Amino acid sequence: MVHFVGAGPGAPDLITLRGARLLGEAGQVIYAGSLVNPELLELARPGTPCHDSASMTLEEVLALMEAGEERGWDTVRLHTGDPSLYGAIREQMDTLRERGIPFDVTPGVSSFSGAAAAIPAEYTLPGASQTVILTRMPGRTPVPEGEDLSALAAHGASMALFLSAGMAEEAARRLLAGGAYRLDTPAAIVYKATWPEERVFLCTLATLGETAEKNHITKTALILVGDFLGNDYRRSALYDPAFSHGFRRAKEEFR
Ligand code: SAH
Repeated sequence: MVHFVGAGPGAPDLITLRGARLLGEAGQVIYAGSLVNPELLELARPGTPCHDSASMTLEEVLALMEAGEERGWDTVRLHTGDPSLYGAIREQMDTLRERGIPFDVTPGVSSFSGAAAAIPAEYTLPGASQTVILTRMPGRTPVPEGEDLSALAAHGASMALFLSAGMAEEAARRLLAGGAYRLDTPAAIVYKATWPEERVFLCTLATLGETAEKNHITKTALILVGDFLGNDYRRSALYDPAFSHGFRRAKEEFR
């Protein structure tokens, strides 16, 4: 059986308990070496074959999985963050299904969660935004028409840009073109969230490009944008003494 496992954003203790258990039981591990913290491989039994997929093709990865299956091994396919985001797991799952190889998926802590914790910030801040847009700038993988950053930016929502740190200047241009963000809309670049090398650079849309350039940030970073990074917000209704809900009545003086 093949287990797709989210490795978390970097810190080895941010893998889930289930992910850690599956690593400990694996007959082989195939990990995305460009981003997965190699310390996680220590959770596998000593001597477990661990293959770095960074230099492999999809076909080579699938061949390893198939060979593992023939030996009766459990294969852990370790993807960074949560496998459902930019993980290229669909093509693997489809082929496994075709070949009759069973698989399951264990979620992970995505880097956009790790980045919020690093700041620390709350994406869904009342009075600022109640929506999070996870997207990217087009690279070698195009972004469908209609999802261009300038179109998404029209919402003024909280946004996390993956795979785009090397294009910060152009990202800022498109974000401003959407019309809802301003030059002084707060932004952040979070480099290697939850790793020992973690760095947080707070800036605005006006200074996003130069912030990335000055600090030589080209990869393993997220660009965060939105008023959730600012100081203007309303407190939550949930914990408001004047507000009743299923678990609590409003305090006497507010009724
Ligand atoms: N599945 C992953 C994303 C993989 S795409 C997840 O859920 O996080 C790779 C991109 O993720 C990188 O280009 C970068 O934008 C982001 N990323 C991954 N790990 C990161 C980290 N620790 N800190 C900041 N960004 C990270």
